[in-house]
Amino acid sequence: MKNLTNTSMLPPAVDPPSSDRLAWAEPYLNGYAACPLCEGKSWQNLYEIGILKVHCCRGCSLMFLNPCLMPEEQKLIFSSPEMLKKVSLFFAHYHNDRSWSTPKTTEIYRSVLAQMEGLLPGKGTLLDVGCGKGAFLVLAKEMGWQTVGLEPNFNAAETLRKQHDIPALDCDFFDPRVAEQMYDVISLWDLIEHTPNPKIWMERCRALLKPGGLLVIATPNHASLLDGLAHWACRLSFGRVPAGLEKLYTIDHTLYLTGATLADLFQRTDFRVLKTIKVNTDLSRYHMSAAFRVFAEILLAASWAFHLQNRVVMIGSK
Ligand SMILES: [Zn+2]
Repeated sequence: MKNLTNTSMLPPAVDPPSSDRLAWAEPYLNGYAACPLCEGKSWQNLYEIGILKVHCCRGCSLMFLNPCLMPEEQKLIFSSPEMLKKVSLFFAHYHNDRSWSTPKTTEIYRSVLAQMEGLLPGKGTLLDVGCGKGAFLVLAKEMGWQTVGLEPNFNAAETLRKQHDIPALDCDFFDPRVAEQMYDVISLWDLIEHTPNPKIWMERCRALLKPGGLLVIATPNHASLLDGLAHWACRLSFGRVPAGLEKLYTIDHTLYLTGATLADLFQRTDFRVLKTIKVNTDLSRYHMSAAFRVFAEILLAASWAFHLQNRVVMIGSK
């Protein structure tokens, strides 16, 4: 694997034409020897989107990017607004404080916290992994949870500590400091899809959870109406309309999960699935033109009507 830790190697800040927007990533991609879920070695090539190859495992139906970026390169992408724009212009607001506590996202967080409380009425300690500036934890604390954040970005962790009085570790999830206590709930929002080996993350969660503890994972759902429309737009146009697929299958994601493959991941790592909640993306968190926003809102309304929303939140118990 090439070393991308020297920031002088970053591509220039000016956006290149879309055709070679991802050309910079090609030298850093690494291939899988086996499916990261079932360890099968047979898969079909589902999509080829520029340099991205999306494979679907014949053994377990997991969709994954192969080859994909490893965690070090992914961290570099998310630490740089310029790099994020190269992944997708939708991320132009990612480093904006307000983008993570919009009314719609707060409503989703509140609903998930209510479901957690239904399963664990006594509440307890909640560790949010990759918590950013802590929008989920701030709300959880208000609702009576004992909150702990884990955010490798020092500035974000510092904000959480100073502005919200929430303990925040600014280290890696596998750092021994994280294991200095056990937790009643561990949550991973928009994280598991970035991991090349999700089973290692699930095992780490098991090790850190108290008996009967809850694991909450939120991730894009690729069995959505949007995915179906993007698939058929590309197929019926003989590949001339790939724009939908390009927006849904991005290089910063390694796994493209569905409710079924996420449940499979829970079960294969000895978690019992208790709740599956489908929600739509909060568009206000993302940068897009007004016209596209209206179009996307209509599609998401249809997704809700058909119960084919594009995100899934799964709660399981140890
Ligand atoms: Zn598989």
